[in-house]
Amino acid sequence: MVSKPAFSFEFFPAKTEQGGEKLLSTYDALNQLSPSYFSVTYGAGGSTRERTLGIVKALIERGDTEVAPHMSCIGDDKVEIAGLLDHYKALGIKRLVALRGDLPSGQVGMGELPFALDLVKFIREHSGDHFRIEVAAYPEMHPQARSFEFDVDNLVNKYQAGANASITQFFYNADSYLYLRDTLHKRGIDTVAQPLVAGIMPITNSRNLLRFADSCGADIPRYIRKQLMDFGDDRTAIREFGFDVVYRLCERLIAEGVPAMHFYSMNKVEPNKRLVEALGLTD
Ligand SMILES: Cc1cc2nc3c(=O)[nH]c(=O)nc-3n(C[C@H](O)[C@H](O)[C@H](O)COP(=O)(O)OP(=O)(O)OC[C@H]3O[C@@H](n4cnc5c(N)ncnc54)[C@H](O)[C@@H]3O)c2cc1C
Repeated sequence: MVSKPAFSFEFFPAKTEQGGEKLLSTYDALNQLSPSYFSVTYGAGGSTRERTLGIVKALIERGDTEVAPHMSCIGDDKVEIAGLLDHYKALGIKRLVALRGDLPSGQVGMGELPFALDLVKFIREHSGDHFRIEVAAYPEMHPQARSFEFDVDNLVNKYQAGANASITQFFYNADSYLYLRDTLHKRGIDTVAQPLVAGIMPITNSRNLLRFADSCGADIPRYIRKQLMDFGDDRTAIREFGFDVVYRLCERLIAEGVPAMHFYSMNKVEPNKRLVEALGLTD
């Protein structure tokens, strides 16, 4: 029998007080599903620093579920990053998502730690084994990668430098995930001990999804793209089609033994709750 994967949710920090309140009620609803943890994104170059710190603290105070702040390194210096690591340790945080980040347009200068690999090494140097570290992985290649091989080398290096797991960019083609998983096996990565977690993006809004996919290099297969465009503003049609597509993707991944799924929640309850319940992840 195939065992059910663990699951987690990602939040981004709300911009307004009202959005912050709404996020807490989203947290309450999703927390009832008993996820492994919630992660909170961080704007590269410190652009959401205060908001990320605020929501991380609020979530820790609100429930017992583990909270994993994202940390990015591009554009930051070591002193700032060390300060953040010490702060998170003092808050009792034990898990981080370590990323390079993308600098907001106009901001230049890579900083002292230009790549996620440098950040993973720095976290291990500064904080030892205190944190469980998750890094990013790209089944369809990072858009700036020189080649698929180069990108896989980069991921292998991140595991070897001390990452405990990686979370993929979202994808709708299960084979791209399976191909990356099998490539990692061939490269000597034990994906039971150092899992490749599937990043799952529920589909609720065509325009935002298509724009985002184009910018981060995620492929939207033609049968999905065309139908989303045909639905126009028919939100019910988008929602039902989106649920069907993502449910089938997750079903296939579960049958293939995916160890865990990380839902890009977009700070929403319904699409995530519906998927988790329909897939029987809480059973
Ligand atoms: C699960 C997940 C969560 C995310 N959360 C956030 C977030 O909270 N905040 C945020 O700003 N962004 C976030 N991102 C986006 C991420 O920051 C971007 O995709 C970013 O462009 C790359 O980050 P990385 O950690 O994969 O970088 P890296 O692993 O450093 O790779 C970045 C690129 O550089 C290449 N590369 C690596 N080493 C070298 C080298 N020595 N020379 C030349 N090229 C090299 C790699 O092949 C790749 O193309 C997230 C992405 C994922 C998948």
